[in-house]
Amino acid sequence: MALLVQKYGGTSVGSLERIRVVAQRIAAARDQGHQVVAVVSAMAGETNRLFALGQSLEERPNPREMDALVSTGEQVSSALLSIALQTLKTPARSLIGHQLRLLTDGVFSKARILAIDVRALHQVLQAGQVPVVAGFQGLDEEGNITTLGRGGTDTTAVAVAAAIGADACEIYTDVEGVFTADPNICKNACKVARISYEEMLELASLGAKVLQIRSVEVAMKFGVPIHVRSSFTERDGTWVGAETRELESVVVAGVASDKNEVKLTIRSLPDEPGISAKIFKQLAQANVCVDMIIQNVSLQGTTDLTFTAGKGDVAQARQLAISLAHQVGAGEVVVDSAVVKVSIVGLGMRSHAGVAARMFELLAREGINIQAISTSEIKVSCLIHERYAELAVRTLHDGFGLAEQAPARNGL
Ligand code: ASP
Ligand code: MG
Repeated sequence: MALLVQKYGGTSVGSLERIRVVAQRIAAARDQGHQVVAVVSAMAGETNRLFALGQSLEERPNPREMDALVSTGEQVSSALLSIALQTLKTPARSLIGHQLRLLTDGVFSKARILAIDVRALHQVLQAGQVPVVAGFQGLDEEGNITTLGRGGTDTTAVAVAAAIGADACEIYTDVEGVFTADPNICKNACKVARISYEEMLELASLGAKVLQIRSVEVAMKFGVPIHVRSSFTERDGTWVGAETRELESVVVAGVASDKNEVKLTIRSLPDEPGISAKIFKQLAQANVCVDMIIQNVSLQGTTDLTFTAGKGDVAQARQLAISLAHQVGAGEVVVDSAVVKVSIVGLGMRSHAGVAARMFELLAREGINIQAISTSEIKVSCLIHERYAELAVRTLHDGFGLAEQAPARNGL
């Protein structure tokens, strides 16, 4: 008998029919003797619809009101799932942000969880009911409704699992787990049975959309085992957990591509101490998340500085870069959005030499030019022209033998 948090994503609760199926799954888990806390997303497409509603009145609507608006999608699905459970004679009770008392900071649209008061959850569990938590939302200290960023229900689920010491956090989604590459791009991509938090964190940061990044950070911090699986089958999905010897022996676990970045270059920047500090401080103050940064060698006291930022931040980043360039007497600012970042991720990179070189060689063989490179202990990323996105993913997937390797890792 286990205490399980089960998170159901938008497609899993996308229609009344599917909500009934989810209710049956929860009832079945209870019949097996498990205690279940359900956490739900809004019905598929609903959050987008709500965003569009707000934006049709005003291009940049008030963030507080937008959070109040978009959080309602989860209120609907949590109530519907509770009703569906009750029709199966499974007692259930919906809990939205303030009822769960999920406290966040006050940063609308990307709030961070500060604490969860577990009393409400325990009360519902002790009464033999299934708590059906509305994901994605919380409350700040002033009582405002906040939301946790797109995909935030994953983070609600993992945080709830950590707070109540659940045995596992099951993330039910429309894919069967984490794959060695996007199966839509790579026909021979395989499902991975186990992956470490660190690898998952890199993959999520690189645009693999199965889990919100924050949820993996929270899971890693509190040691919550995550099971990513499909709500349409009974098959096991991918377990995300602490690293093991076995996981460490795999050099490349997955290939990812991310089209969400834009490259900005500030030309002829004075090469003096303090210039980078000034630029990146202002970008940070404007909440622009910068990813790759490259500075060229200086020629006659000036240098070119290139960095990448998310597509959503590019207008702001560009404006800031132009005004900074003006202030410090730099040249023009060039924006290039026809780029994609392809990356390889794997724990084994720590102990194997030549992995980056092999990646560059594979790309070169296809005539793909590399515009920027960044690395971490377990990741190598290359920025390339977007035209080569799919070719690069397939080339790297095959070049590192991922199709053959995954089953070994799966222990099949
Ligand atoms: N409904 C929210 C979204 O679409 C949160 C979630 O589904 O995780 O981003
Ligand atoms: Mg999601």
